[in-house]
Amino acid sequence: MQQSHTTTVVTLGLAGGQGKSTVALMLGRYLGRLGIPVLFVDADPQSSLTSFLGVKVQPNTPTLLEVITTTEEKTPLINAIAPVPDVQLDNRTINNTNLFLIPSDDGLENANYKLASSGISLFILRNRLQPIANNFGVIIVDPPPERSHLAQTSLGAGDKWIIPAEANVKGVQSLVRTLELVKEFQPALPYGELMGVVPFRAKWTGVNPTKATKSSISAMGEIVGLDLMLPHILESDVYKNAINQRVSPTDLGQPGLEYPISVLAQKLKPTLPEQY
Ligand code: ATP
Repeated sequence: MQQSHTTTVVTLGLAGGQGKSTVALMLGRYLGRLGIPVLFVDADPQSSLTSFLGVKVQPNTPTLLEVITTTEEKTPLINAIAPVPDVQLDNRTINNTNLFLIPSDDGLENANYKLASSGISLFILRNRLQPIANNFGVIIVDPPPERSHLAQTSLGAGDKWIIPAEANVKGVQSLVRTLELVKEFQPALPYGELMGVVPFRAKWTGVNPTKATKSSISAMGEIVGLDLMLPHILESDVYKNAINQRVSPTDLGQPGLEYPISVLAQKLKPTLPEQY
């Protein structure tokens, strides 16, 4: 299969609420601010990413469902790509000119049947994105939190996999299950690589992490190895407000909260096409 120069990043997690959409969203916004054209792909029928980005699916425009279930001749990819609208924040305009999305809605669930019958679901999304891949610096895919065919085709689209996991017992369990998924399919995906684990919603009291946060992050480190542990995202209403207002913590005057996202962006940069 032909490799594109564009890097495709996939956030993975086999439980709800682990931070997949948040990491996908904030990483894309961060890279967009650096001038890198970003294509988001919302591969979750819950369509959190589509709503977080403020994209409204229009009745007669294709979504990821048509992209996955039809051909380029029938649904040219370009018709399924929506620009992410700019946002008014107080008296400022937050510019989203570098951000694009292939949206989803709950109808995407039906793609699972088509993928299941294809016998090659692992490669369908990757192949489908190929024609436009080089128009973007990065593609970021947000899959559903389950072992569905949509999750498999998302995994197969990725050059880099990021696993966000809540900094608690549920997050550790989600990490273990997600690593099993990666291990099962990695032999068929030699181009894919685990970039790391991002502990999500880490809780601190004063200058110390809580016991639960500390023990879960250390358990994650034992499971994946310290090399793959990335800085954690703090539990913070600023993130929730940023998501609700369709901006990033930096736009709300809290760039420090985006440190884990900046580390991800720095790790990705050497893998991006030369011009970025
Ligand atoms: P699902 O797969 O169920 O869609 P997910 O893994 O994509 O979940 P998110 O939607 O990213 O998880 O996050 C879960 C919730 O956590 C969201 O409601 C979001 O608003 C909230 N959240 C995001 N960042 C933070 C943060 N730093 N502190 C507290 N809450 C946060």
